[in-house]
Amino acid sequence: MKNDAFIGADIGTGSCKVVAFDQGGTMLALQSLEYPTLYPQSGFAEQDPKVILNSLAECLKLVAAQLKNLNYQIGAIGFSSYFHSVLAVDKNNEPLTNCLVWADSRSVGLVEEIKKATPPNAWYSRTGCQLHPMYPPGKILWWKQNLPEIFNKTAKFLSIKEYIVSELFGTYLVDTSLASASGLFNFNTMTWDAEILDYVGINSRHLSEPVSSQTILRGLRPHWAAATGIDQSVPWVIGAGDGVLSSVGTGTVIPGVMTAMIGTSGALRVLSPIPRVDPKGRTWCYHLTGDMWVLGGAINSGGIVYRWFRDKFAGEFKQGTEPPPYEILNHMVDAVPLGAAGMLLLPHLSGERSPYWNANARGVLFGIGLEHNKSHLARAIIEGITYAMYSVFVALEELTGQSQEIRATGGFARSKSWLEIVSDVFGREVKVPQVLEGSAFGAAILAMVALGYLPDIQSARKMVTIGETIQPNMDNNEKYGKLFALYERIYWKLQEEFALMADLRKELTGGSKT
Ligand code: ADP
Repeated sequence: MKNDAFIGADIGTGSCKVVAFDQGGTMLALQSLEYPTLYPQSGFAEQDPKVILNSLAECLKLVAAQLKNLNYQIGAIGFSSYFHSVLAVDKNNEPLTNCLVWADSRSVGLVEEIKKATPPNAWYSRTGCQLHPMYPPGKILWWKQNLPEIFNKTAKFLSIKEYIVSELFGTYLVDTSLASASGLFNFNTMTWDAEILDYVGINSRHLSEPVSSQTILRGLRPHWAAATGIDQSVPWVIGAGDGVLSSVGTGTVIPGVMTAMIGTSGALRVLSPIPRVDPKGRTWCYHLTGDMWVLGGAINSGGIVYRWFRDKFAGEFKQGTEPPPYEILNHMVDAVPLGAAGMLLLPHLSGERSPYWNANARGVLFGIGLEHNKSHLARAIIEGITYAMYSVFVALEELTGQSQEIRATGGFARSKSWLEIVSDVFGREVKVPQVLEGSAFGAAILAMVALGYLPDIQSARKMVTIGETIQPNMDNNEKYGKLFALYERIYWKLQEEFALMADLRKELTGGSKT
């Protein structure tokens, strides 16, 4: 008899990852494919939904074939995907737009208008989502005002996962996790918020039906079954958002324990049995499943900034060659001492979310001198991203109390130096689970729970093995404390300048005024 394997199908912002595990949580197979984000204008950040769908199908096909060779059958497949995306489709499910990702800030002007038109925190206090252009309300309003012919033809506004589910299964469903991070969903009633929908100019028929993240989907469409080699009888579980699933995949499923994730974006997360918002409005609150909510803060300027540096300034290190480009860059970072010889980066290359919620914030390279080279810049990037993470850490611990434990996940955890920098800046021990694909692992675990292979989500804690524990160097922590204080000073001093530059940028690039 064949053993069962469980697959996490994780649609990340930079790549999709399909990872298979056995019932004990041992990884059996992993396939991933990167895809591009397009930046057609300043503030725009889009992806082609068909490229993502086909990349996912390709990875699924490769993993299914590997499992067959290993003599495993697929017990279930769970979905994970990045939050806050939205695309418009017509009545035949044909995309009318690209998929706007969280980094898209084209609606910054419209969001300012919503802020003026609504009482402070009125939407936030019932959605858990701040007023910010990364959330779908601003993006949908932007289409309504700037592309009315598209808006009027739209049958559904979907996140990337809903689009993929609708293609694979022919049904419009959204898990309450993704819905709760859309800015359109009321966590008190657990339904779409009629007042917000009305403001945006849509109704619930434009959106998918919200369902539990443990909802089982069956009946993969025949041509996708043929394309992926996955039998139509295999159950799929709709799953949740990647961020909250990474809490499951790192075993951070009890209160008082924090996940620190740096993938394309970055985030810190703590579990809560009830939805909670921050009186100062710095954090968000998204649903996982049942009475499990995740409080956290996310930064736009996570690993994407390091990837930007790799792609734009380290083109001589080609992908697919040995050592991989990130490894070369990591060695360059190691060669430079703490503080990048007095160069400091505010890494907000695409505006910022937590804790400042400032869509106008941009990157600032401070202290640069003739003595600095590419290695200094690589180090300043990693340190700058880590300061941005630390500013969220401080806000989150103010709300949730001091965490007993921090677990790391996301692409950055492949770099020992980066993990050490995080541990030193935070002044805390950091535990690194053996499986770094936390979201995919979380999706597989949620699928096991939904199908009764595991009794509950808390079982995840037993399945996760810690590979490495990083201890902070408190001398470094003191030095980083001074650099972080300067980082914050620079940020707060530049408020008017960020806004002035945002206006100038529009003028210079002919970008959208709304
Ligand atoms: P996503 O799930 O959003 O696609 P990942 O969790 O795969 O993202 O993380 C991708 C990011 O992780 C990259 O943009 C890069 O910044 C960072 N990263 C990936 N590999 C390495 C590495 N070997 N060393 C340092 N950073 C890395």
